[in-house]
Order: sequence, then C-alpha cells, then structure tokens
Amino acid sequence: MRVLISTGNLDKFREIVEIISLPEIEFLSLRDFGSDPPPETGLTLAQNARIKATHGFQVSGLLTVAEDTGLFVDALGGMPGVFSSRFAGPAATYRDNRLKLLEMLEGIPFEKRGACFTTIVCITRDGKDFAFVEGKVRGFITTEERGEGGFGYDPVFLYPQMGRTFAELPRCVKNQVSHRGRAFRSARDMLLKLL
Ligand code: IMP
Repeated sequence: MRVLISTGNLDKFREIVEIISLPEIEFLSLRDFGSDPPPETGLTLAQNARIKATHGFQVSGLLTVAEDTGLFVDALGGMPGVFSSRFAGPAATYRDNRLKLLEMLEGIPFEKRGACFTTIVCITRDGKDFAFVEGKVRGFITTEERGEGGFGYDPVFLYPQMGRTFAELPRCVKNQVSHRGRAFRSARDMLLKLL
C-alpha cells in the first residue's frame, strides 16, 4: 500500500511518518515524483492544505495526505499564521523567520507571548472529495533560541507543561504533544478507513 504525503519538506515528512506509524504502508513524498510543492496561494491553512492535496493527487494518483501549518502569535494579532514559512521574506530560512519573530516581540512580557501552532490535514483518495482534521497546541514564544532539535520555530516555542522548547524535546516527545501529532493521530484513523 502506497500513500503520498504531499510535501517536499523532509522535516515534516519524517515527523508525519513517525506519528502515523503504520509500517505496512510505503509513504512517498513529492520528491519521489520529482515534483516541487505548489505555490501556497490560499488565505487559510485549510485552503493551502487542499491545494497541496490536489497537487499531490494529480502528480501521484495515490491516496494523498497533505498538511499546512501556521504559528499564530497572540501579541501579533495571529501573525505569522498562514504566512509562517515566508514571514521574513520569500527566500527566508527557518532562522530568519525566528529572528524576525523574536525582534517583533522584543520588550513584550512573558505572559503576553502566548502562541498557538495549528496544523490542518487534508486527505483525498480521488482528487474530488476532501476530508480535513485539525490539531493545535498552545505555548509561549521565548526571548531567545533554545535547543538543537526540531525545525522551523521549534527553538522559540516553549511548551509550558514541560518547561522546554520543542527543539529541546526528543522528536518522539514533541510528536506526542504537538499540533502535528494531534492532527495526524486523527488522520491515521481516517486513512485506515480509506485504505
Ligand atoms: P507550511 O505548512 O509548509 O506553510 O509551513 C509553515 C512554516 O511553519 C514552516 O516553514 C516552518 O517554519 C513552520 N513550521 C511548520 N511546522 C512546524 C513545527 O512543527 N515546528 C516549528 N515550525 C514549524
């Protein structure tokens, strides 16, 4: 059984395969089909997740799972949100985005640095019908980068229940509590029904 995870981001791919944890399924990414991800032209996570799912089905013809994730920061009115990957500009690195976020929050006290990671997963078997699930986790934006693990905003996202940033947690622990872990554990049940 083959399932496409419609991403070219290997950080996400690795996490998703570990969370779904179905060894009998062969998971492929857009890289296996020589395809770049489609432009993220949606104005919401759900729109972008659907764009990625449609594209993935078109290039693979396989049961396709896609996701879009954003970091919604309270003190910035929900920014960067759907624009999280391009926060510091179109060619921004993970680090550029983190530093821009820390700069924008300079001087803001801890209790006002709340933020929410949200992932929307979109699944399609035929490129026509789409099912969606959501996963969220709340935390706080730190004042400096902490930890070597994870990716993206993980070094500046403090998970208060553990007193650690996501980059300070082993990947298996991050997956247990993260937005992506929550979303893909629900998506796993849907996948099992569709297979
Ligand atoms: P997108 O879903 O590809 O648009 O990703 C949005 C951006 O959010 C990525 O480029 C990362 O910078 C960030 N991001 C997505 N997932 C995570 C995560 O699990 N931890 C930290 N940052 C993430």
